[in-house]
Amino acid sequence: MAEETIFSKIIRREIPADIVWQDDLVTAFRDISPQAPTHILIVPNILIPTVNDTLPEHEQALGHLITVAAKIAEQEGIAGDGFRLVINCNRHGGQEVYHLHMHLLGGRPLGPLLS
Ligand code: 5GP
Repeated sequence: MAEETIFSKIIRREIPADIVWQDDLVTAFRDISPQAPTHILIVPNILIPTVNDTLPEHEQALGHLITVAAKIAEQEGIAGDGFRLVINCNRHGGQEVYHLHMHLLGGRPLGPLLS
């Protein structure tokens, strides 16, 4: 059994976060340390620690991360100019919170992907 992170508490609304979307499968909330004018984390409600832990039974929730990202981008007014979706995995990927999440970044030109 994987260990819960702070994101499970946010999903259950036990600690405060600026939640912009929640349904049966995913929750989206503003990143506490935004790297762009729009920086939202979209997370599956169930705890999947990393991309390495994904299973076929997670596909509905994982696919939903993307369709919800598109809806939130529209809501935020950044769909037309564009945005970036990022999922970090483990140490070399720069993952800090071990509850799989997708970053939605936009509101300014983001520049080259890699650094
Ligand atoms: P990672 O590096 O794991 O892909 O991204 C983790 C993200 O979670 C970081 O951008 C970090 O700022 C954000 N974060 C960490 N703790 C919290 C928190 O308690 N609340 C919110 N809203 N964001 C958090």
